[in-house]
Amino acid sequence: GATIGIIGSGQLGRMIGVAAAQLGYRIHVYAPDSGPANDVAAAHTRGAYDDGAALAQFAAEVDLVTYEFENIAAEPIAALEEQVPVHPSSTSLRVAQDRIAEKRFVEDLGGRPARWAPVGSRAELDAAIAAIGCPAVLKTTRFGYDGKGQARLASPDDADAAWAAIGDGPAILEAFVPFSHEFSIILARSPDGTVVSYPPACNVHKDGILDTSTVPAPAEVAAQWTEAAALAGRVAEALGHVGVLTLEFFCGPEGPVFNEMAPRVHNSGHWTIEGAETSQFENHVRAICGLPLGPVRLTGREAVMTNLIGEDADAWPELMAEPGAHLHLYGKREVRAGRKMGHVTRVVRD
Ligand code: ATP
Ligand code: MG
Ligand code: MG
Repeated sequence: GATIGIIGSGQLGRMIGVAAAQLGYRIHVYAPDSGPANDVAAAHTRGAYDDGAALAQFAAEVDLVTYEFENIAAEPIAALEEQVPVHPSSTSLRVAQDRIAEKRFVEDLGGRPARWAPVGSRAELDAAIAAIGCPAVLKTTRFGYDGKGQARLASPDDADAAWAAIGDGPAILEAFVPFSHEFSIILARSPDGTVVSYPPACNVHKDGILDTSTVPAPAEVAAQWTEAAALAGRVAEALGHVGVLTLEFFCGPEGPVFNEMAPRVHNSGHWTIEGAETSQFENHVRAICGLPLGPVRLTGREAVMTNLIGEDADAWPELMAEPGAHLHLYGKREVRAGRKMGHVTRVVRD
C-alpha cells in the first residue's frame, strides 16, 4: 500500500495511524524535535513545524500528507502542496487556525458566532468591551487549545488581568454565550465532494478541557442538528475540504451559535471508534485516500466517551474489567495534570 505522512505525533495522529494500518497503509510521521515518537509509525522525520527543508524531505518519503493539528505554519504546508497531495489543503488550515478568519468565513456562509471584535492592543480591548459588553471571553486568535489562551471578563474591571493573562494579542473578544449544551458536528468529505456527517455529540467541558461526549445528544441539541450540519456542509464545500472537519457549537435559545472549527479529527469524535459503523479516523483515511466513505450509523443505542485526564488513567485496571467499556491509552510516558492520557467509550447496545 501507499505511505501516508502525518504531521504531528500526538494521540490524534496515532489513532489515524491505527485506522490507516488496518486498511493496509504505511505511516510515516513528522514529529517535533523534542516531542514523543508515534509508536504506530513505521518511520519518523524530526523537525520543527516551520522547517520547510525538513518538511520537504519528509514529503519526499510519502505518497500523501495529512496533519493532526492546526497549530503549524501554513506557508511551508502550502509549499508542500507543490510536491505531494496535502489533505486537508493549506486553505482549510489557514482558515481554521485563526479565530478571526474562521469566524468571517462562517459568517459569510450564513453561520452565527457570538458577537465578537478583533483586539490588537490593550486600547482596542477597551473599545471591544464597550462594543460587546460583559460577560465576555478574550481569546488569542491562534494557538489556543483546551481553553488555554483565554480569559473571562465578568466586568470591564477585569480588562487588565485578562490582557495580561493571554499575553500580548492578537486576540478577539467574544460575548459569553449562555448555552444550555455544547455540541459538535463532525463530517468527512471526499475529493469528489461526497460528505458523510455524524450525529451531533453533546460535549461537556471541565476546566476548559473536554470531559464527556454523548451520542445521541439531548432533544435541545437534536433540534439544532439540521441547521448546524447544513452549515458544516457549506463550510466543507466552500473550503474544498478533503478529510474530516469539525465544527463546535453552543446550543442557545436562538439556535446554534458557532464557536470554532478544527480541520481534523476531533476529541469529541472518539466515540465513533466503537460507537459508529465507521470511525472518524477510518473515514478521514478513506477521504484523503479517495476511497468510498463508510456509514456513520450508531452501533448501539448510546455511546458515551469520557476523557482520562492526568491521574484519571490510573483507574485503567477497573476500566479494563468493566463490561461494555472500551479503554484507550495513548502511551504517554509522563503523567501531567490536565494532560489527555486516554479515553474510555461506553456503548449501550440494547
Ligand atoms: P479546544 O480544545 O476545543 O480547541 P479551545 O481552547 O480552542 O478549545 P474554545 O473551544 O474556544 O477553546 O473554548 C473552550 C471552552 O470554553 C468551550 O468549549 C466553552 O465551554 C467555553 N467557552 C468558550 N467561549 C465561550 C463563549 N463565548 N461563551 C461561553 N463559553 C465559552
Ligand atoms: Mg480550539
Ligand atoms: Mg473548542
